[in-house]
Amino acid sequence: MRSVDELVQLFRNKGLRMTPQRRLIFTLLADDTSHPTADELYRRAIEIMPDLSRMTVYSTLAELVSLGELTETETDLDRSVRYDTNVGIHHHLLCVRCRALVDLPDEKVGVSISTTEDLGYQILRQQVTLYGYCPRCQQTPDV
Ligand SMILES: [Zn+2]
Ligand SMILES: [Zn+2]
Repeated sequence: MRSVDELVQLFRNKGLRMTPQRRLIFTLLADDTSHPTADELYRRAIEIMPDLSRMTVYSTLAELVSLGELTETETDLDRSVRYDTNVGIHHHLLCVRCRALVDLPDEKVGVSISTTEDLGYQILRQQVTLYGYCPRCQQTPDV
């Protein structure tokens, strides 16, 4: 995702409405690598702007997705849509206990998928998810 100022400029160039509420959402996303859900973002946003509507969060996220600045990602653990600010090809680690979803560092990636053209598919996205327990969850005993 681009910087907050660049996103503001991009929205203006596209004729999309730019408001302080939207700028706040950009700011919250800018340094967020946690793959938040819309609800999580909404809860963070209303701590700063209590009058911000849930609708504003959803519409801003939808516009960022359609501009290619965010991607939607779903896990089969909870089916909720999470937003990824890293729009490049990358892979994920998912904790099956606390559901933390983190990007797998590039140097850890040895996954190589050879061309799938012979299968007749047009590939839209490449993403592998590794499931396990995060370091914190391994240290806390089961409740
Ligand atoms: Zn965990
Ligand atoms: Zn990611």
